[in-house]
Amino acid sequence: MNVKIKRTCAFFTFGCKVNQYETQLMREELLANGFVETEKRPAFLIVNGCTVTSRADKKCGSLLKNLSRKNPKAKIILTGCYAQNTKALKIKPEGVSCIIPQDQKTLVYRMIEREFGEILEDNNAAAHLPHEFYGPQNGISEFPSHNRAFVKIQDGCDNFCSYCIVPYMRGGPRSRELKEILSEAELLSKKGFKEIVLCGINLGAWGREFKEALEIGDLIKELNFLPGLKRLRLSSIELKHVNDSLIDKFSEDLKLCRHLHIPLQSGDSFILKKMNRDYSAQEYLDKLNLISSKIKDISFTTDIMVGFPGETDENFNNTLELVKNTGFTRIHVFTFSPRDGTPAARMDSQVDERIKKYRMLTLEDAAAQSSFTFRKKLLNKKLSVLFEKRENDYWCGYSDTYVYVKVRTNTGLSNTIKKVNVSSVSITDTMATVCEF
Ligand code: SF4
Repeated sequence: MNVKIKRTCAFFTFGCKVNQYETQLMREELLANGFVETEKRPAFLIVNGCTVTSRADKKCGSLLKNLSRKNPKAKIILTGCYAQNTKALKIKPEGVSCIIPQDQKTLVYRMIEREFGEILEDNNAAAHLPHEFYGPQNGISEFPSHNRAFVKIQDGCDNFCSYCIVPYMRGGPRSRELKEILSEAELLSKKGFKEIVLCGINLGAWGREFKEALEIGDLIKELNFLPGLKRLRLSSIELKHVNDSLIDKFSEDLKLCRHLHIPLQSGDSFILKKMNRDYSAQEYLDKLNLISSKIKDISFTTDIMVGFPGETDENFNNTLELVKNTGFTRIHVFTFSPRDGTPAARMDSQVDERIKKYRMLTLEDAAAQSSFTFRKKLLNKKLSVLFEKRENDYWCGYSDTYVYVKVRTNTGLSNTIKKVNVSSVSITDTMATVCEF
């Protein structure tokens, strides 16, 4: 007699905010079909992998090995950019039962039914869940273990930066419908989420392909009317999409957080050209200065890659100088990781790993100094903070300017927005700025 497989599952997610959002979509799809999420010997293990760097590959690959060894009976379902890459490379990782293509994640239940339908235990979903749980199937209705909800508004990219594998894994840019995003954001804000983080693979490209050619500023204006929503944050946006109409939105008293994450990647124009990035180092600086002149106390965070093929000490020093002259609140520093199939992976003059490491550490020091310089200016000033979690004696959260703040108090502050006064900043603990009421 066929032993039935239980409708139990667990999720493992790597990578960007879009991937985290898509895991929640898959979670809701399975829970709406009688599945229960559990850590106790789940029958289905859904791995949503990332392949943006070789390190991401290694992490995902070793998890798959571990999972298949520790759960020999479980069905491992692999999806995400990592899956797309393995599919492209025609390899099926050890222990994986089935691969779900990147753009079919929301069909996870149908895929499981198709693969294991005959041996899957009956679905008695109705017994499991209250009615309002059934969120709009083309959106999420919850974002567990988060106080800020990620909302995916766009997918894909066709910028083809020479080091990037993403366009090959996610395809060209495409936008979600305005009304779909609005109804999802409305549901999440009704559920108590005070901050929504708009995310996408190339966020600023949202709406461009619509007949009426909308811009992200139009979406921001619509979202502003949501009563429960207090803060709207843009996850990451390319320089060219931060145009005058978007900059104006920041001074129209909408719920926009005064924070922009604009990837720089390199502070050297020769390297930017080799990266196929569409701006020079000076153009990047000019735009930041323009934005700062128009939006009071705006804060900038960024991504910088070191060790790109052909990067000399001089090129690297240009990046270092730019960072020293621009007060970034935070910098994500990456080392170049050759991705098969991208032009940069085939370039000559690949940089030695030890030099990459040295440049990464040097830039991280400069980043810590840059963040310290920015946060020192906040001393004795007020910040509006959404408190998210408790760490030892402190309640912690992010200001709208994306400064991570901690306040020593016993009052429960979960999911509350409070004004606090900055009392001390430290260079060692770049993550935290101590405040009091
Ligand atoms: S903008 Fe460039 S780095 Fe970003 S996803 Fe597109 S190709 Fe990749």
